Amino acid sequence: MTTPYAEVIGDPIAHSKSPLIHRFWLERLGIAGDYRAERVAADGLAGYFAARAADPDWRGCNVTVPHKVAALDHVPDPGGVRESIGAANTVFRDGSGRLAATNTDAAGFLSPIADLDLGGAAVTVVGAGGAARAVLFALSKVGVGRVTLLNRTPLKAAALLAGFGLKGDALPLEARPRPDTALLVNASALGMAGQPPLSLDLAPLPEDAIVYDIVYAPLETPLLAAARARGLDTVDGLEMLIGQAALAFELFFGAAPPREDDDALRDLLLA
Ligand code: NAP
Repeated sequence: MTTPYAEVIGDPIAHSKSPLIHRFWLERLGIAGDYRAERVAADGLAGYFAARAADPDWRGCNVTVPHKVAALDHVPDPGGVRESIGAANTVFRDGSGRLAATNTDAAGFLSPIADLDLGGAAVTVVGAGGAARAVLFALSKVGVGRVTLLNRTPLKAAALLAGFGLKGDALPLEARPRPDTALLVNASALGMAGQPPLSLDLAPLPEDAIVYDIVYAPLETPLLAAARARGLDTVDGLEMLIGQAALAFELFFGAAPPREDDDALRDLLLA
């Protein structure tokens, strides 16, 4: 008997939490399947997709650094993610078994804040890399108001704002968030293990502002600690990680993951 499986590919890949997440759901749902981490170098990407396309047990893969853009050179993009977000994080088989690329990061980012009415709201985002692209795409879809985009390289940030049709300002990291900010998102690598902390002045934020850090290693970033110390509501990076994985899981295995078990999953990821 054969076993259906999916994978996460990247280089490096050993740090990935995706196998823990997907295996947890496979076990809870009693699905006889597997999910692995596979290190794939940049020059091995074409060969990887050619080999897996020929393996009927392979249901697809998540794609992480540094392959999120390059994967689109090897897999059809029927939903046009190259044009919209500019990167793919998931490759799956469509109903006819053909490979298709998509991006679940944007919807995964929105999932923990789906109840917020962000229409017209002022938002501050930090970062202009791959993750920020998914965040800005998602925010453009919910019709946010002015976006203050802070980045080490403000020129890059200005290009992203224009590219996503967002109105706002591209500023250096030292700038202060606007006093009407409803949501502040860190989508940069700052605060991640091995990176400097993100030192933002949170004093201008209103009392009902929400601070969302998509960094999940460590989970309690200096930014989230500072926001909590100020009494602000926070959203951590595991929420987005689990949200984007849930959408990919359904594409791989055809079943919705048991999100009522999220607390147990978070405990597992933090153990
Ligand atoms: P990326 O494409 O490499 O972008 C990195 C961003 O961080 C850029 O804006 C870069 O600024 C900035 N940056 C990096 N080092 C910096 C430094 N020393 N000083 C100032 N700015 C610095 O990375 P990414 O893929 O967007 O990932 C960003 C973070 O999001 C990572 O921590 C990643 O783990 C996390 N993430 C989380 C999820 C989730 O599901 N929770 C999903 C995806 C990513 P420049 O533009 O000036 O280079």
